[in-house]
Amino acid sequence: MGRGLPTQCIHYGREVRDFEQDELGVDVLFDDGQTAQADILIAADGTGSRLRSQLFPGYESSFADYIAWRGIVDEALFNAADVANITENMTLHKQPGELFMAFP
Ligand SMILES: Cc1cc2nc3c(=O)[nH]c(=O)nc-3n(C[C@H](O)[C@H](O)[C@H](O)COP(=O)(O)OP(=O)(O)OC[C@H]3O[C@@H](n4cnc5c(N)ncnc54)[C@H](O)[C@@H]3O)c2cc1C
Repeated sequence: MGRGLPTQCIHYGREVRDFEQDELGVDVLFDDGQTAQADILIAADGTGSRLRSQLFPGYESSFADYIAWRGIVDEALFNAADVANITENMTLHKQPGELFMAFP
């Protein structure tokens, strides 16, 4: 998305502390005290978005019951033919309640 926007639209290296919007646009206050005015503010500040909290007071993330375990293993510890079978292509194995993926 960043590559598709004019450079002056993106402010790196500082956080948005606050914003106010009305029918004319949005006023943004940064943590260094500077301000900016814009037609829109894109809140891409992650899962714990401060801006979303301000826009939707009371919103809380909820646990979706997904748990993922990740690991990296030394291929040398495994039978080479088995490793080749799993990793020649991306492998996806799915059954109820489980998902196994392997990337080459
Ligand atoms: C350990 C781990 C492994 C993951 N692995 C994968 C994977 O393999 N594949 C996959 O698709 N996803 C993976 N994810 C999920 C993926 O990282 C997130 O879904 C994705 O990064 C979310 O992108 P985002 O741009 O919404 O937020 P983020 O990547 O969190 O970016 C938010 C940005 O906003 C900045 N920011 C925060 N507050 C402010 C503020 N007030 N003002 C200005 N800037 C602010 C932050 O510094 C950060 O740079 C993984 C996540 C974790 C934690």
